[in-house]
Amino acid sequence: MKCKVCRQDAVISLRAYNSALCARDFISFLENRVLKTINGYRLIDSNDRLLVAVSGGKDSLSLWYILNRLGYHADGMYIHLGIEGYSDLSLEKVKKMSDMIKRPVYIFHLKDAMGKGIDMISKKIKRTTCSACGMIKRYIMNRACLDKGYNVMVTGHNLDDEASALLGNFLYWKEEYLWKKGVELKEEEGHLSKKIKPLFLCSEREMAAYAILSGIDYIHDECPFSVGAKSLLYKEILNRIEDESPGTKLQFLKGYLKFTRRLKLEKTQREMKYCNLCGYPTAGEKCNFCRIMEKHGISGGIGFEEYKYGDLLNS
Ligand SMILES: [Zn+2]
Ligand SMILES: [Zn+2]
Repeated sequence: MKCKVCRQDAVISLRAYNSALCARDFISFLENRVLKTINGYRLIDSNDRLLVAVSGGKDSLSLWYILNRLGYHADGMYIHLGIEGYSDLSLEKVKKMSDMIKRPVYIFHLKDAMGKGIDMISKKIKRTTCSACGMIKRYIMNRACLDKGYNVMVTGHNLDDEASALLGNFLYWKEEYLWKKGVELKEEEGHLSKKIKPLFLCSEREMAAYAILSGIDYIHDECPFSVGAKSLLYKEILNRIEDESPGTKLQFLKGYLKFTRRLKLEKTQREMKYCNLCGYPTAGEKCNFCRIMEKHGISGGIGFEEYKYGDLLNS
């Protein structure tokens, strides 16, 4: 197998593109793909301030790294969920990347702020761990953007994440989400900052290859709570289809985007109010987060630790 660009030995075949590439050409292919997504869908304006949600996994760390390589000044945001054997290790990887690209990262410690880790909180508010985690992450990320003056929240969702979520929404006709799954979400409730996903068209396999070939140190384990999640089943099924007909996942998402853009969505203009507990913009009297936490007697303050890159090097 030869590289389609330089004819040297290829390290990865890309059947969806009918191509194979060597390490160097693959790295520039993928970075270029991210840049094309950003420009093609106009995700970033020149005066935007970007905050990347990093988990310590391959996607978000690679994204943070790529954005800075492409010349965007993007800072990081990490939520320490207090998961034993997982959170400390992933934070370490995040700090390592912060040192590598010399960008600061804000850290939110759930246990310090709320007195409990994610497992205890989810039990208390009677939700699955993944659903509680999603709700908390959305709130904290938005708060970090507001408090620290960023207007764009960047997440590392890749092609496989988006395709499997979309498939799930179709299977159960979750109408409220179905038409919202774009590359960019603007100022809806729960997405108060603009939220963008520049890895939307890059597959899981491509991201893993990119991270390894670029020497990015990331946490390989999936979150221990994601075991058995339906999204993993959907990914498996989509990969079987992809195997038979390469390029299907890309078609699925690109077609969806084209289709939804044609739909004239009625914008429900609701009057914005502010949560009377935390001051956060919301449609009701209290924001979703405060309402749930108050109902179940969980309280705490929201604050962020700022990790200045280089601390590891200096200590
Ligand atoms: Zn090559
Ligand atoms: Zn609130």
